[in-house]
Parts: sequence; C-alpha cells; structure tokens
Amino acid sequence: MPDLIALLEDTRSIGDGIANQGNMNNSDAIIIGAGPAGIACAASMVAHGLHAKVLEKANTIGSVWRRHYDHLHLHTDRNHSGLPGMVMPRTYPTYPSREQVVEYLENYAAHFRIQPTFNANVLKIARDGLHWRVDTDNASFSSPVVVIATGWADFPYRPSWPGSDTFQGNLIHSSEYRNATPYIGKRVLVVGFGNSGGEIALDLANARIDTTLAVRGPVQILPRDLLGIPILNWAIAQKSLPTGVVDFINAPVIRLAVGPMERFGLKRAAKGPRRMIEEDGRVPLLDVGTLARIRDGSIGVRGGIDRFTPDGVVFSDQAVQKFDAVILATGFRPDLRELLPNVNGVLSREGKPLVTGRATNERGLYFCGLVASATGQLREIGLEARRISELAGQYVKAHRK
Ligand SMILES: Cc1cc2nc3c(=O)[nH]c(=O)nc-3n(C[C@H](O)[C@H](O)[C@H](O)COP(=O)(O)OP(=O)(O)OC[C@H]3O[C@@H](n4cnc5c(N)ncnc54)[C@H](O)[C@@H]3O)c2cc1C
Repeated sequence: MPDLIALLEDTRSIGDGIANQGNMNNSDAIIIGAGPAGIACAASMVAHGLHAKVLEKANTIGSVWRRHYDHLHLHTDRNHSGLPGMVMPRTYPTYPSREQVVEYLENYAAHFRIQPTFNANVLKIARDGLHWRVDTDNASFSSPVVVIATGWADFPYRPSWPGSDTFQGNLIHSSEYRNATPYIGKRVLVVGFGNSGGEIALDLANARIDTTLAVRGPVQILPRDLLGIPILNWAIAQKSLPTGVVDFINAPVIRLAVGPMERFGLKRAAKGPRRMIEEDGRVPLLDVGTLARIRDGSIGVRGGIDRFTPDGVVFSDQAVQKFDAVILATGFRPDLRELLPNVNGVLSREGKPLVTGRATNERGLYFCGLVASATGQLREIGLEARRISELAGQYVKAHRK
C-alpha cells in the first residue's frame, strides 16, 4: 500500500496547527460533522493552506463511536484504519476496540488542534452567490466550500412487517444495542446478516442468550484474516483488478476458508463479495466467530420474516417462533434531501450523494464518507479527505483572485 504510506508520511507535517477556530466568517471551508470523515478533512485542509470550521451537533469528537455497542472492535486492521497524518498507535491490537477508536479520534483532533463548534446542528445548506450559507439551529455561517461529513448514523433503516406494531416485546435497531445484559433470560431475534447483525448475535450467544438470526436471502461470508493476513490487505492488493476477476479468483479460496454453510440454513450468494458491495452497498460478514456459533447451535438460523405476532414472528416458511426482543440489524439509508432542499444534481432520488470524495456538480460542495467500500471505509475516508482538500484548495485559491 505504498500510496497510503506515502500519504500518511507526507501529511505528518500538517500537525502544526489548524486554524479553524478564528473568526467564523473568515473560514475557507465549513465541515459538517466531527466524526472520522470531518476531522480527517479538517486536518488535511491545513496542508492546502485552508482554514476550516468544523460544525458538530454533538458535544464531542467521534460521538457516534462513543455510542456503538460495548464489545465492538474494528474489523479493519489498525494499519489501514488510521486517518491521514497519524497512524493508529502500535500499542493497539491489530483490531482496536471501540474505546481505542474513540481515544484515537480524540488524540487525532488534539494533535491537529481541531476545535469544532459543538452543539451546532446544521439544518440547511443553500447556495448564496459564490458562497454557501450554512444554517444551524442557532447561527448562520458562510463559506466558499462546504464538506458534508455527517455519516449515516442518523438514518437507521427500520423496515416494517405486517403486525410489527402489535409486537409486545422490545423492538430496537442495531444502533441502539449496547450489550447483552438487558437480554439475559430472553429469546432474541436478530434480523439481518451484515456485520452488525452477525456480531450482535455473537455477543448475545456468548452471553448464553437464546439467539436466532433471521437471514432473508443468500449471504457472503469472509474470514477476517486469510492465511494470517487481514482480509483487507487482500482487497487492497486486488483493488486495480476488475470486479468479476477478483470475485472469480477468490471464490474457491473463500469457500475453503469459510467452509460449508448450507446445512446450517445459510445460502451462499452467487454474487461475489466485491460485486455485492459495489452494486448493493452491502458489506459481507467478516466473520469473527458467528459462523462457529451457528455451527455449534448457539445461534439458530431462520429465513426472512413474513409477519409479526404480539409475542413473536412468523417466518417466510410459516414457522412460528416466540421472541421477547427483536433487534433490527437492517442497516442505514442516508437521506440528505432535507439538508440540501434547493440544491440539484448532487443527490440521488433517495437522497444519497451521487459521488463522495470527489467534485460534485456544485462548485465548492463535497461529501466525505457515506459509502461502503471493499477496501475499508476508514481508509477510504482518509483518501477522500486528501482529495477533497486538494480540490477545495484549488477552488478557494481561484475564488480569492
Ligand atoms: C458498527 C459499525 C462498525 C464499523 N466498523 C468499521 C471498521 O471496522 N472499519 C471501517 O473502516 N469502517 C467501519 N465502519 C464504517 C465507518 O468507518 C464508520 O461509520 C465511521 O464512523 C464513519 O465516519 P463518518 O465521519 O463518516 O461518520 P460518523 O462517525 O457517523 O460521524 C458523523 C458526525 O457528523 C455529525 N453530524 C451528523 N449530522 C449533523 C448535522 N446535521 N450537523 C452537525 N453535525 C452532524 C454526527 O454527530 C457525527 O459526529 C463501521 C460502522 C459501524 C456503524
């Protein structure tokens, strides 16, 4: 990954000060969000001589990582999860914990002297001549460049089924799950077989909780490490190869590494992992033990849900099962239409950015993060932040003339 290493090396020097805290009307750029994407952009902009103001609706850096579930660890390795200009410490394990990610984000912001304006909830962004006007709940800001780094945590996708409003048990989205304690002695259904669903089911099963996974369709499972090497390394090494070729050559190796799954109620998807990410935005399960728990019977597997009953669920094969709690690990669907009500040509019909990390149809407006990536989203966020800062630097320079 020489490109990334070079990138990290050559931005190391930008730690000597980020002046995003001056006069608010003087900033070259406004960055919305102080998660990994927002602070990566703020740090990278210094290298391009830009003064960025970061607006964050919470009162801390990395607020979303603070509320993820307790046992969460990165499933991308630390060497590929650091942001531009500051690698994750070597004292961290290969797959850092949630607390370590939070600590890293705090240290990153401190190192680059990023001081966001907290409790600034951005409600609307609108074109205002050559500038962008950014309205929060209590102030307005103006700048030639706006970077939207708001992540997708605010957009949990909660599908509904017939009868789901009559369910008497506890029904939550995976983003609300913290740990297994409230579920001890209960029967829990986890809906969805992405990384959140797989890991929450594992967390519950490890606490000896009666756990079932509802898996609607065919799945892709990858080992987190292959031949002792993080799977992300393989994905990065193959990045320049065509998707069809990558999925074709990897299929037998993955099959061998993951082992048979059909007899445990899981169907292997015909679509390869990389195509699945690119076409459907679905990241395959990077297995950290879920499959072993399915094999030893600690996690039951069922098909899709047909309907809810007051005390459980009827599955698509009409099997009826009682549950005390249902956890929807059904992902997120970001929709930024409310934030950009009068800006055309940058969002899909559903409100997702058409491009992230690149120039959009609107001069000075960029999105960072917000898409799933086969090569790790944090890594991708770092690369996007560098690209956006370069584009923003050129744009502001031209703007100043
Ligand atoms: C459970 C989970 C595990 C993950 N694990 C990995 C992993 O192992 N490796 C990996 O590479 N990626 C992982 N990701 C994906 C991704 O890296 C993270 O979601 C990452 O936090 C995205 O960073 P972000 O800055 O884009 O968004 P966020 O971290 O969501 O930060 C966005 C920030 O914007 C703020 N904000 C939002 N709206 C507004 C507004 N209107 N006004 C002001 N502020 C606003 C929010 O408060 C928040 O602080 C994981 C994601 C999840 C959900």
